[in-house]
Amino acid sequence: MERPAILGGTPVRDTFLVFGSPAIEESDIREVVACLRSGWLGTGPRVAQFERDFSRYKGATHAVAVSSCTAALHLSMVAVGLQPGDEVITTALTFCATCNAIAHAGATPVLVDVDPVTMNIDPVQIERSITSRTRAIVPVHFAGRACEMGLITELSSRHELRIIEDCAHAIETEHHGRKAGTFGDFGCFSFYVTKNVTAGEGGMVLTRSEEDAARLKVLALHGMSKDAWTRFGDEGYKHYRVVDGGFKYNMIDLVAAIGCEQLLRVEQNWLRREQIWQRYLEAFRDLPVVLPAAVEPGTRHAYHLFTILIDEARTGVSRDTFLEALAAENVGAGVHYPSLAEHPYYQDQYGWRPEDYREATQIGRQTVSLPLSVKLSDSDVDDVVCAVSRVLHGYE
Ligand SMILES: *Cc1c(COP(=O)(O)O)cnc(C)c1O
Repeated sequence: MERPAILGGTPVRDTFLVFGSPAIEESDIREVVACLRSGWLGTGPRVAQFERDFSRYKGATHAVAVSSCTAALHLSMVAVGLQPGDEVITTALTFCATCNAIAHAGATPVLVDVDPVTMNIDPVQIERSITSRTRAIVPVHFAGRACEMGLITELSSRHELRIIEDCAHAIETEHHGRKAGTFGDFGCFSFYVTKNVTAGEGGMVLTRSEEDAARLKVLALHGMSKDAWTRFGDEGYKHYRVVDGGFKYNMIDLVAAIGCEQLLRVEQNWLRREQIWQRYLEAFRDLPVVLPAAVEPGTRHAYHLFTILIDEARTGVSRDTFLEALAAENVGAGVHYPSLAEHPYYQDQYGWRPEDYREATQIGRQTVSLPLSVKLSDSDVDDVVCAVSRVLHGYE
């Protein structure tokens, strides 16, 4: 095999393959233009449509569209009524937004390590971390793999804890016939650029209770009693009253226009990512890396991230050198995530230490996410396969 580009060979590709680039279709563009021409850009009919479409897709009773998953998480924490001193348990292997949302609601995040195989929060360790101050659990369906929701809901009812699911990776995820985001009191979704359904930015909260949904809507728009749609609609001027301590977290129609169109393709996109996933599994079978575990029976994986673990002792190359070598081949990759305990702010704030979350720390130091976007052509996928194999063989 040819020498890796980092060692002086010719790169696998001429152009850089951007990690997580979105697949935008003409119909997305048409809907955005139609929204612009309609003159209604703000929160209005397209947001309402997106909420209806999304709750139908998820089989949920209520959906509230917001500006991001971070906003969705924060609002859910506020709706739970967290008080200073309250503890909220989450996984050490997640994006910082999960943890920040807990902190912004005034509560204290408590980290739990992950299962090394599933990379999801370990229910046994959740139970050990429950104290008299624990109020909620925030499971993250990592990479799109369903958490052990049977055990987690059982823990939550036994200890009277609320569940807020971080479903940023888990739009298509299911666990024994039930869809991710419908187990907990709140399910929070992301439509950020790199996510399975994108609107550029955006989020959604699913909830079972009409009361919670109404409160979320008010909280998402300054705590005002009526949203701008009814206030500036064709029914004439309506007075509003500020009835809650709200935020500016509403989604706008310009964003929902993209979201509605993207959601129409969610299943066909899932099938395509499954195809790429299987191709990677097959192609990397004999490489000295750890591949994603098999999908647990009775669950549906959302195939959001295809992660491989690079253990320098086995590969002869460090994770970071591997990332550089892949970039030299013109293939972009991601890192999801360094353990939260690796970040200086959290270390200062909460005294977290990487060595206390051994599995998350090891995964965070070894993991690489390979491109899995439906934007990839078959030949792009071939390039990724070729680049990964060439880099690893280059260091044999
Ligand atoms: C992307 C992501 C978020 C934040 O989503 P935004 O819509 O960008 O706010 C939260 N949690 C996880 C696990 C994520 O991957």
